[in-house]
Amino acid sequence: MLEVDKLNAFYGPAQALFEVSLRVAPGELVVLQGLNGAGKSTLLKSVMGLEVRTDGHIRYRDPAGPQGTGLAAIERWDTHRRAQAGLGYVAEDRRLFTELTVRENLHIAAGRDLQAQEARALDLFPALKTMLGRRADQMSGGEQQMLAIARTLMTGPRLLLLDEPCEGIAPVLVEAIRDALLALRRQGLGLLVAEQNQLLAARADRLVLLVAGKVRGS
Ligand code: ATP
Repeated sequence: MLEVDKLNAFYGPAQALFEVSLRVAPGELVVLQGLNGAGKSTLLKSVMGLEVRTDGHIRYRDPAGPQGTGLAAIERWDTHRRAQAGLGYVAEDRRLFTELTVRENLHIAAGRDLQAQEARALDLFPALKTMLGRRADQMSGGEQQMLAIARTLMTGPRLLLLDEPCEGIAPVLVEAIRDALLALRRQGLGLLVAEQNQLLAARADRLVLLVAGKVRGS
């Protein structure tokens, strides 16, 4: 459903990605690994059309779109259009509304079918059910991460792009996040996750290692 082909990415004159190619299929978990600064965040931002200038190809097919539709070249689409086509992104810093409650954070992102989307998101993260009235700034880092993923699920994405969801999070919550991501994989979502944590990497369908902006092995 996602094909990145010979992608270069730039911040001003500085090049951060070099001829990067990778694929994600529906129901597939691809984990991006690499040291700090290797380009993981840049790759996710490039796919989402954020902040970074790219050349090369990004192709996407929405599995929920009209049957028979092929891959579309999305590299010139703005972020909003990519989101509408089914790409969901959770940044490393989570970008929650910290003064709003869990429920308000979920509802602010809601698509058409609020009740069903909320039920689905909370089924994946049952811990959030017990804190719907709590402000996001009164949650632990792991709970906030669950909320950030749940909020993105409210838009009904078919491909999830997650930037280090397990970083700095207590092991028990890492397991909860891993299990939720595996459940989403079973539901047929494509998952492209930048993550160093081995608990998640061990369950990946494929690992992609970035070294200084280039793909090494897989
Ligand atoms: P981390 O795990 O630290 O987030 P990463 O693998 O996600 O690392 P990136 O954040 O994608 O790596 O960074 C790749 C390269 O691009 C680095 O050399 C970094 O300094 C540079 N870079 C990242 N963001 C910017 C920016 N906004 N402006 C300029 N250079 C940037």
